[in-house]
Amino acid sequence: MELFRLTIHELHELLKKGEATATEIVGSVFERIEAVEGKIQAYVTITKEEALARAAGVDAAIKKGKGIRPLTGIPLAIKDVICTLGVRTTCSSLILENHVPIYDATVIHKLREEGAIFLGKANMDEFAMGSSTENSAFMKTKNPWDLGRVPGGSSGGSAAAVAADMCAGSFGSDTGGSVRQPAALCGVVGLKPTYGRVSRYGLVAFASSLDQIGPITKDVTDCAILMNAVAGYDPMDSTSAMVTLPDFTRALLPDVKGLRLGIPAEYFIEGMDPEVEAAIWEAIRLLEHLGANTEKISLPHTDYAIATYYLVATAEASSNLARYDGVKYGYRTKRSMDMLEMYQRTRREGFGAEVKRRIMLGTYALSAGYYEAYYLKAQKVRTLIRHDFEEAFKHCDVIITPTSPTAAFRFGEKTEDPLTMYLSDIFTISVNLAGIPAISIPCGFTKGGLPIGLQILGKPFNEEAILRVAYTYEQNTEWHKRKPNL
Ligand code: GLN
Repeated sequence: MELFRLTIHELHELLKKGEATATEIVGSVFERIEAVEGKIQAYVTITKEEALARAAGVDAAIKKGKGIRPLTGIPLAIKDVICTLGVRTTCSSLILENHVPIYDATVIHKLREEGAIFLGKANMDEFAMGSSTENSAFMKTKNPWDLGRVPGGSSGGSAAAVAADMCAGSFGSDTGGSVRQPAALCGVVGLKPTYGRVSRYGLVAFASSLDQIGPITKDVTDCAILMNAVAGYDPMDSTSAMVTLPDFTRALLPDVKGLRLGIPAEYFIEGMDPEVEAAIWEAIRLLEHLGANTEKISLPHTDYAIATYYLVATAEASSNLARYDGVKYGYRTKRSMDMLEMYQRTRREGFGAEVKRRIMLGTYALSAGYYEAYYLKAQKVRTLIRHDFEEAFKHCDVIITPTSPTAAFRFGEKTEDPLTMYLSDIFTISVNLAGIPAISIPCGFTKGGLPIGLQILGKPFNEEAILRVAYTYEQNTEWHKRKPNL
């Protein structure tokens, strides 16, 4: 059997029945990695020895009668923006190329406790800034469905690794769509939890008021299982929320009868690929057929979302990235005469073009004389965007939209003009500004064989509703079972 192809819950069943060992599972996934990583390039760092040693430890513990938890022996990939004790964490940036954290992020700590096994660190856009993973300082991750196309971003390595069966599941981070959009472009499931649901302790900060860690998986059940492992209050993250924690797998009910689906007029716009639009309407009709009701809703400030995001996110980034100065972390220039030159050269040599662009934009938006006109104004519009969702959710339980206006694009297609890259985030960004949860699931393919993603948005701390709609849709379709030909 090709163990590497299986989902987390399928591997768990085999482990429980004694039909597979953790060593066999991890071994199978490494065989797969060795076969296809050369083509895909999803991993910045691979920790094979550690993973195999850990698998042996897990097997020995099982033999001694230790209970098998849902993630015991399950091999995962981790976006290289999440700190791992003793394992290089680069953010796909030259400035952190040799940075080895001295602590685990809270999610890593929790996953270890649950018995998960880490395969390595996944490639990404530098500091999670981008939508194609082309901004990685190290390599271009390919889309497993078409090697001439991007996997999406910024968690492109995490999504491609899941789609290519180079891990059972993975984690990404989502500041403006970075879990959902690559999941959509690679034909897998990606969830951005409510802001505050999952601890950000140990997640290298991009835009702290927007960042959330989220799972990327082969199906919706696995997504709920990973959420169970990582969600919850953490005293180490002051923005982490002290709210009741559900068992997310209990939301996996194949039933949407009577549920109200909001369809926002502003998300069915010109410029959207007709094949994407057709697939989304097809999905809505199926959910209606399964007993859901649709409501037309309006999110009137959608037009301002991209401008608002690129002020708030860059302002926070300019402040967060000030710490990379050659003194405290990572890279330091070899050539400098004095301290100022050391700072300047370190940052000039260490950061890539997109990161520099964002630091400059953000510094400008925060500077005296411009702060009121840009940063403060953006904060006010952010409140209006949040109110749009509060109003809309009075009339519906979840909101249905496309995840991305197009399927995966070609390498280089959007790198010349950063604005066209920014515009590709139009459907995912408002969710982060409002802090609400959203999931992307596969809902079809273009004629050219590229996956299309359906996005389901929920009320704050109601991941259960979106998981339930996603699960019902998945149980009635076959899209998630298709595999790329590698
Ligand atoms: N693509 C968006 C950006 O470039 C979102 C990135 C993210 O979610 N980390 O900022």
